Amino acid sequence: MPLSNLSFNLQGKVAIVTGASRGIGAGIAFELARRGAKVAGTYTSQGSEKAMDALIAKIDNLGNGSQAIKIKADLRDPLAPKQVIEQTVQAFGTHIDILVNNAGAELVKPLQDVTVEDFASIYNLNVRGPMLMVQAVLPHLPARGGRIVNISSVGARYGFKDLSVYCSSKTALEGLTRCWAAELGGAGHTVNAVNPGPVQTQLMENIPKDYIEMQKSQTPVENRIGTVDDIAQIVAWLASEESRWVSGQVISASGGWAMY
Ligand code: NDP
Repeated sequence: MPLSNLSFNLQGKVAIVTGASRGIGAGIAFELARRGAKVAGTYTSQGSEKAMDALIAKIDNLGNGSQAIKIKADLRDPLAPKQVIEQTVQAFGTHIDILVNNAGAELVKPLQDVTVEDFASIYNLNVRGPMLMVQAVLPHLPARGGRIVNISSVGARYGFKDLSVYCSSKTALEGLTRCWAAELGGAGHTVNAVNPGPVQTQLMENIPKDYIEMQKSQTPVENRIGTVDDIAQIVAWLASEESRWVSGQVISASGGWAMY
């Protein structure tokens, strides 16, 4: 592909981004659309509807043939993934080329206080949600070249105090990524994970400040935390044809704080 076409390399593709109302998901949805994809973005809180409308308007203004729709879905509900797929198919047709499992939640709690409900709440969204999304999207992936990108975390491979449920849910997502890559590779699809370090979003607000400072001070690239766009660029590449020979990988998106 000529270099000049690279920035529009997702034209004609249909993508789903879960948790697209804010933070990293909103940035990913915008970047995929900027490269030409039609994007179905999910959200769950009533209060995020306006943010979704603003994102859709921003994508419409690109004027590059991309389009966006919003789908309200609580991905802790096991029935939600099928509904997300149905609404995407209604809007954009039967092929879905790209799925970005981004929606996630954290829990900061000492081990002894973690309840069964806490565990279910985090694992149902961060682990079961992506699994049910992938199951639901399978019949709609193209004949070859489907792209699944899971947003995990550097916490998947680091022992942060009081974050055991969250971090381990992201470790599980890494494990699923590798196995799905093995299962879906025969059909030419790739499955990868991106592990962000800290990025300024609503989710990061709840993470203890000393964890953020520690990572920032040890980050080789510019001693800073990540931006939403830092993450979105990596995801957009993994969603594109150019990444076709990369599968089952976990990319640390942390300015080198975590080196795999
Ligand atoms: P935010 O909290 O800013 O955004 C979370 C998104 O997920 C929102 O769109 C939210 O929708 C959606 N969401 C929340 N609960 C549900 C649910 N039950 N069903 C469906 N959607 C839901 O998070 P970030 O942008 O910071 O994080 C995005 C991903 O990146 C997460 O998987 C997170 O674990 C990961 N990550 C983030 C890091 C960071 O420092 N920010 C670092 C490492 C990983 P709504 O607005 O409607 O609530």
